[in-house]
Amino acid sequence: MIIGVPKEIKKDEYRVALLPVGANLLTSDGHTVLFERGAALGSGFDDETYAEVGAEIVESAEEIYRRADLVAKVKEPQPSEIEQLRPDQTLFCYFHFAASRPLTVGCLKSGSTAVAYETLADPRGRLPLLTPMSEIAGRMSIQEGAKCLERPMMGRGLLLGGVPGVAPGEVLVLGGGVVGTHAARMAAGLAAHVTIMDINLDRLRYLHEVMPANVTTIYCDPHTVEEYAMEADLVIGAVLIPGDRAPRLISRALVSRMKPGSVIVDVSIDQGGCAETSRPTTHSDPIYLVDGVVHYAVANIPGAVSRTSSVALCNATLPYLRELASKGVDAFAATDAGHAAAINMRNFRLTNAAVAHAFPDLP
Ligand code: NAD
Repeated sequence: MIIGVPKEIKKDEYRVALLPVGANLLTSDGHTVLFERGAALGSGFDDETYAEVGAEIVESAEEIYRRADLVAKVKEPQPSEIEQLRPDQTLFCYFHFAASRPLTVGCLKSGSTAVAYETLADPRGRLPLLTPMSEIAGRMSIQEGAKCLERPMMGRGLLLGGVPGVAPGEVLVLGGGVVGTHAARMAAGLAAHVTIMDINLDRLRYLHEVMPANVTTIYCDPHTVEEYAMEADLVIGAVLIPGDRAPRLISRALVSRMKPGSVIVDVSIDQGGCAETSRPTTHSDPIYLVDGVVHYAVANIPGAVSRTSSVALCNATLPYLRELASKGVDAFAATDAGHAAAINMRNFRLTNAAVAHAFPDLP
């Protein structure tokens, strides 16, 4: 099979979908790997390293879309890429179709097969290709939030961990899943006082067992959110209802009652955000103020730490990419329900139930 890896062209996206070791293993498996020149420079890997392990370095994305049977990417195809897709071609990347009708319609019209990272499930029902990016986003949310608390960033001028004789900051983490757990650990490691809220009592019990003493678990309801948000210096939005829009936990009115210079890092912005005042921002222009509260709502947080993210992503995707390349789409989908769930589109039709539910009028 011919596998192509184009350079990512989405704004502020520096990740790459294949590491040199992946190119090496795919060529050893008997496949041809086309690699666009410079595709991994943003992640710190040069073209020569790919060429040395047998990848063919090509000069343009056009050549990849013209020749490849299977295209491996990180982010969803952009309009100029969608135009080049072929009906006999498979794309393996993040799509998040439910969030974009133009993307869904464009890909559907191309007739290409969409195998989505975000809906591939393992035998325990977990999402193994989504988890590494949530781990990174959770950790980064504290790094970015701590920075936003600095005065030049319009924050309250607070050092999250405090110093001897000065109290640490109060961090409220909404949602105790993958993002929330990693955020809480990072904040606790910086010596902040951390509160994690969730509606899943079993999850709170688990977190209570494993978290250090400066982390408190609280059941999430409108009263507790209000009480703790008003005391918080940094709020991390990390809630998720799979496939659905993020629940709105922080109203506009509550934002206006939060401390001036406090910070909301809304990681759940890719599902619409959990604060009424959240709107997507970018790494080049990441923050804005509402009633004196700093909002950070970058939709592709892991893209900024592209080296770590590319390695973490490829560690998870490579076994599936090799499987897809060796079996082909039909045998891959027939493996089990989790593999089948990854096939979002095939032969001009939506094939994933959640995506089809989001667009009932599309075939
Ligand atoms: P997860 O499923 O592991 O955790 C979500 C948690 O939210 C669960 O524990 C769930 O019980 C809890 N929850 C659901 N509804 C709630 C409510 N009403 N109140 C309180 N808790 C509630 O999900 P995750 O992997 O941690 O991802 C969280 C969000 O972060 C998702 O929207 C994900 O897409 C997003 N994300 C964003 C970026 C980015 O770059 N912005 C990167 C990675 C992940």
